[in-house]
Amino acid sequence: MIKGNFPVEKFKQLYTPFYYYDIALLRATLEAIKKETANKPFHVHYAVKANANPRILKEIASYGFGADCVSGNEILAALECGFSPDKIVFAGVGKSDREMQIGLDNDILCFNVESIPELEVLNTLAAAKGKTARAAFRINPNIDAHTHKYITTGLTENKFGVNEQDLPRIIEVVNASSNVQLTGIHFHIGSQITDLKSFEDLCIKIKELQEWFNAQGIKLPVINVGGGLGINYQHPNHIPMADFESYFRLFEKNLPLQERQALHFELGRSVVAPCGSLISRALFVKEGIQKKFLVIDAGMTDLIRPALYQAFHHIENITSDKEPTPYDVVGPICESSDVFAEQIVLNKSVRGDLIAIRSAGAYGEAMASRYNCRNLPLSYFSDRF
Ligand SMILES: *Cc1c(COP(=O)(O)O)cnc(C)c1O
Repeated sequence: MIKGNFPVEKFKQLYTPFYYYDIALLRATLEAIKKETANKPFHVHYAVKANANPRILKEIASYGFGADCVSGNEILAALECGFSPDKIVFAGVGKSDREMQIGLDNDILCFNVESIPELEVLNTLAAAKGKTARAAFRINPNIDAHTHKYITTGLTENKFGVNEQDLPRIIEVVNASSNVQLTGIHFHIGSQITDLKSFEDLCIKIKELQEWFNAQGIKLPVINVGGGLGINYQHPNHIPMADFESYFRLFEKNLPLQERQALHFELGRSVVAPCGSLISRALFVKEGIQKKFLVIDAGMTDLIRPALYQAFHHIENITSDKEPTPYDVVGPICESSDVFAEQIVLNKSVRGDLIAIRSAGAYGEAMASRYNCRNLPLSYFSDRF
């Protein structure tokens, strides 16, 4: 079986579970994104919620990318790790006054506003500081991203964004708000999107909306298409990177920009998912009636994606070369959903073997919890090991 290239001997000395980040792969990914967006009016804001580990944030910031934040504390974390405030955008349906003030105090590039009441509060808070906030309205394009229902966000009657029919009213409110300047429109249709056709549908919708704004005599310097580009979770060793070339080319081809207009992206998962693995130890092999359970010391508190969205992660036993054997790989948490995979094939495993759960760099460490009073997983980086 082909496996990831891990410093197994060093791993054996460490307390498990922990996250291990392949910094060379992260850098290659950042280079690829840079290459595809260079010399184009394309701006990438990394979605901090995917992984807010300071080391990862610093690495991404050092390439000059911006940050997409969904809380005031994410703005502070991004600033601390070197992201420039004029490249920070701030989304979220429920921004508190304190959070909006953090954005205003730091003169961030843009608030991605999700409702009229939010716009009104932003205007009041900005006025109190004698500032003008830049805002892009998040519009719900009613596009099906063909992904899991918990991570599809662009359909009508979704808590995110405003609907198209509210636009005339929004323009009225914007015009009456002297401390908010409308700079663009924003979209985000879902996550782990592997059928790029959904992004083509988005482009068609954006072109229609552009025409409407043009007819109103409104110029939009910023079109923000959000994130959502998926990765290949099945074959991390063969396909270690998202197809950035096709992704960016799709927008170049399908979304002609107007003069002085820039296209903004908010990629999260595709930037960081492949570079992270959750490393765990096998505790017990438990013989069931029909199957074998491999009980490992990592649980849903370390990586919740399988329990939360039935997500698939490729799993490898990195210390065994013995015969392939089917297992249910389960964690120690007192929840029936604490299962990483059912009936997958691993090299025959014994207590103490090291188990790597791959492509765990996004929505892994960032979603870890202390449920069952467990320790939060530690993190290690391939270049300082
Ligand atoms: C989560 C999120 C993203 C990033 O999504 P990925 O699927 O990780 O690329 C981008 N924009 C917004 C508004 C988000 O909520």
